[in-house]
Amino acid sequence: MLDIKEDVSLAEFSTFHVGGAAKFAVAVQTTDDLTEAIAFAAAKKISWRVLGGASNLLVNDDGYKGLIIWYRNKDLVIDAELGFIEVGAGAITAVVAGACARAGLTGFEWAAGVPGQ
Ligand SMILES: Cc1cc2nc3c(=O)[nH]c(=O)nc-3n(C[C@H](O)[C@H](O)[C@H](O)COP(=O)(O)OP(=O)(O)OC[C@H]3O[C@@H](n4cnc5c(N)ncnc54)[C@H](O)[C@@H]3O)c2cc1C
Repeated sequence: MLDIKEDVSLAEFSTFHVGGAAKFAVAVQTTDDLTEAIAFAAAKKISWRVLGGASNLLVNDDGYKGLIIWYRNKDLVIDAELGFIEVGAGAITAVVAGACARAGLTGFEWAAGVPGQ
């Protein structure tokens, strides 16, 4: 069962701490939960938007009339031998950069200090 909250201040969750509230907001971990959240928005005939760390975003003072979805899947699979990385869309960029470096994979070091998911 999703824990969908109503009238959630987005300023509280964004890097720049500005803007109004979301009519609805929910954090999800799995694709099934994501599907359920989108179905909720469809049933209410409202728009939806996925957000991460809200570090690349300025929220309007009028807020958002739809459903904000925080996708929190932080799964991280690295196969250093194959040079393969599979990352959940909720993974923290800096954590992924650190994990790549520890596995001996180079090229993503620049992202270590970038905020966001
Ligand atoms: C101080 C500072 C320094 C920065 N430096 C850099 C830098 O050096 N290089 C750089 O590239 N960027 C930089 N950025 C920008 C920012 O950190 C990145 O763009 C980051 O990837 C944003 O991630 P977020 O999770 O905060 O995204 P959000 O701000 O939450 O979202 C940004 C956009 O992506 C969409 N989105 C977010 N998550 C998902 C998801 N899981 N699925 C689908 N859509 C999604 C949102 O709907 C929105 O449109 C910087 C930002 C700050 C504040």
